[in-house]
Amino acid sequence: MALDRDVIGRRLLLGGRRGSETASLGPSQFGVVFLHFGLDAGARVPEALVHEIDRFAEPLKSELSMRVADTLVIDTALPVLGAPLRGSGYVAGDGCCVSIRHVRVLLPLNGAFRLAQRFAIDWVKIDDENRIVRGDLKDVKSYRIYGEPVLAVADGSVVGARNDLPDQAPGALPANLPISEADGNFVGLAIGGRAFVLYAHLRPGSGRVRFGDRVGRGAITGELGNTGNSQAPHLHLHVMDRPDDLQADGLPYVFEAFAIPTDAEAGTSDFDRAEATGSPLTLTRRSAPLAVRKALPLDLSIVDWEPRASEGGTQ
Ligand SMILES: [Zn+2]
Repeated sequence: MALDRDVIGRRLLLGGRRGSETASLGPSQFGVVFLHFGLDAGARVPEALVHEIDRFAEPLKSELSMRVADTLVIDTALPVLGAPLRGSGYVAGDGCCVSIRHVRVLLPLNGAFRLAQRFAIDWVKIDDENRIVRGDLKDVKSYRIYGEPVLAVADGSVVGARNDLPDQAPGALPANLPISEADGNFVGLAIGGRAFVLYAHLRPGSGRVRFGDRVGRGAITGELGNTGNSQAPHLHLHVMDRPDDLQADGLPYVFEAFAIPTDAEAGTSDFDRAEATGSPLTLTRRSAPLAVRKALPLDLSIVDWEPRASEGGTQ
């Protein structure tokens, strides 16, 4: 796969900082190139990735080629998760890989770069009219997902929990929030295989688990709220390689089974408008839901964890 200057320019971030995309790297600057590529179904997964950069070095007036970032491909089994929420009509917001809000949150923390949110999803729920919110936009209860029970996605033990932070007023991110409160009320779950799950932005007082508790897959751990660094009620969920919300690296994971009832049409701007104004998402129902097993929903997929009543096969 070869990327030209224009493509690189949309993916090269100065200092790894989101919003600093550029095609030019100045003297003594460093940048991070965020890359994703897909393989055809059934294609052999490479054992390693090699990156070759061809560039024109101005001081030398010559082309240079360099090989960097040799990377082994991890081939360990992925965590297979159960549903984090109940029912149908969930939107996988800011998921991999086109959306950049989680995927490119590379944070320099205590001397190391960490990308804990690389496979994070912000889950919201839509109603029968494809609306995320209806009524007073400043009232957390107007958002369809508010108060939904949050489920343990696997058997595990609780490695962290908080329950005392208040809901934020929807509509804008809170100002001057300490980093320690970014998750709001949260639950951290160790699910084995050195994988940890973070659930963030839970409703005040809704937490049902405490540090050290054992939980079974499907158990209710709390309810959805709008606490922490959140501008509208949603469930932030990701899997990471250590029990620390930010000082960890994000791990890929798959969900055991779900269905996709619509074609993906809503882009990020459509989603943002729907969340900010209560307008419906632009979606077209498929003639039959697409049944999916062991996959990670991509950005803005609509996900049904359980069949809709109209599709349950009963009279
Ligand atoms: Zn998030």
